[in-house]
Amino acid sequence: MKKDKRNFQKKDKKTNKKRDLKQQHLRSEGGKRGIKEQVELKCIYMNEEGKGVAKYSESDVIAPDFIKGETALVELTRRRGFYTGSVVKLIDASKVRVIPPCKYYEKCGGCQLQHMSYEGQSTYKQELIEQLMKKYSQVNPIFTAEKPIEYRNKSHATFGADKHGKVISGIYQEYTHRLTPVEKCMIQSPTADAIVQTIKNLMPSFKMRAYDENFGKGFLRHVMVRHGYTSSEVMVVLVVTDQKFPGKNNFVKALLKEHPEITTIILNVNDRDTSMVLGNVEKVIYGKGCIMDSLCGLNFSLSPKSFYQINPPQTERLYNKSIEMASLTGKETVIDAYSGIGTISLALAKKAKQVIGVEVNKDAVKDAKFNAKYNKIDNVQFVADDAGAFMVKLAEQKEKIDVVFMDPPRSGSDERFLASVAKLNPKRVVYISCNPFTQKRDLDYMVGRGYQVKEIQPVDMFPQTFHVENIVLLEKTLVKKKK
Ligand code: SAH
Repeated sequence: MKKDKRNFQKKDKKTNKKRDLKQQHLRSEGGKRGIKEQVELKCIYMNEEGKGVAKYSESDVIAPDFIKGETALVELTRRRGFYTGSVVKLIDASKVRVIPPCKYYEKCGGCQLQHMSYEGQSTYKQELIEQLMKKYSQVNPIFTAEKPIEYRNKSHATFGADKHGKVISGIYQEYTHRLTPVEKCMIQSPTADAIVQTIKNLMPSFKMRAYDENFGKGFLRHVMVRHGYTSSEVMVVLVVTDQKFPGKNNFVKALLKEHPEITTIILNVNDRDTSMVLGNVEKVIYGKGCIMDSLCGLNFSLSPKSFYQINPPQTERLYNKSIEMASLTGKETVIDAYSGIGTISLALAKKAKQVIGVEVNKDAVKDAKFNAKYNKIDNVQFVADDAGAFMVKLAEQKEKIDVVFMDPPRSGSDERFLASVAKLNPKRVVYISCNPFTQKRDLDYMVGRGYQVKEIQPVDMFPQTFHVENIVLLEKTLVKKKK
């Protein structure tokens, strides 16, 4: 008995040590001001931002890094009758809790789920979609990623200076304009990180100043790096405040010497006081101004501003599943709305009679047209227009549309678009979304207009973050005629 107790204490000590270690990263949701108290709470679920939610005197308390099922001592801050919380001590830690592998996790804010194992992250995403959509249909098991790190094919670093005037590159801390230096990001490509570090190190010898947003002065604001997953072509975009770049040729030479893998360098001029990264003026200073990549056996050209899915292996699974859901026979007229550079349109073209892609970004439409020609696909057309406005025109002309693919931005679609889809009456709608909440809102609308949810497939395109991609197949319900 004694021995057992000792062993138990030993084990408990070990668990406590592990728990303490794990606790070091816990982040706070509460502000500096407000009334504080500490209470023991149980996390009942995790919200759409990956934060834990607990109940305290009938109020919701939201605490980051609090995992469903855990019990912890939570410091509550009460302001104007609302509580926010931060976990100060774990009492019963979750089995999926891990020590966040990235040393910037606490400050950065780019990832929100690194305190959970990948399995735990996937369960959280699966349950989120189930909770939201189970009234419509069963949810297929999420397509998890084989490589949940270093998956991003587009990376981005902001430049600034520390209080001693030394150049730093990194990202803004969540909800702030405080730049946190980041040298190695777990979800970005190591090549991109290395290029950013080289640029940072080259800057002093080229007398290149980082932009200071407080004074609106300096030259280099951001660096964006895109690389082709299969082609290995690398694009570097230098976002600067002025087209004039003294020493440009030598800078390009020095950068290429360190990174011969770079295939094109573009200067993007952004001199406005804005949080948008890219400005309107672009100048190619090395190479052809775009890179090629392949997906689903097709080749695509990407320019700096075009949207392109950031996780290539998962994108292929997303596209293949969406196309399978559409059950195409080769006779259909298909709309690919929010078509970007035409990836979905071109991937499904062989299986349909004709495809019309509609996209508002003119650069992306230009890329899409080029991509159709490059892949020798001639049953696809691309239209530069607002998707809603375009669908209204199609509905007025009473076009016959068999299948609609739609992949809108996070804000979802709009009533004009959805009402026109309902009028056009396609047999199937395949709705791809990176925001299941706006997707659910739009599904409710379509279900109200005679469509039925047939299949739901979540896809993990963004491991370590709370984001989740989701495909929903809608089919027109057959109305039985009264005899
Ligand atoms: N289907 C593409 C792009 C999806 S991202 C892919 O898989 O790569 C969403 C796209 O919608 C972006 O290219 C964006 O430019 C476009 N978009 C945003 N608002 C739009 C609107 N109102 N009408 C048409 N396209 C729009």
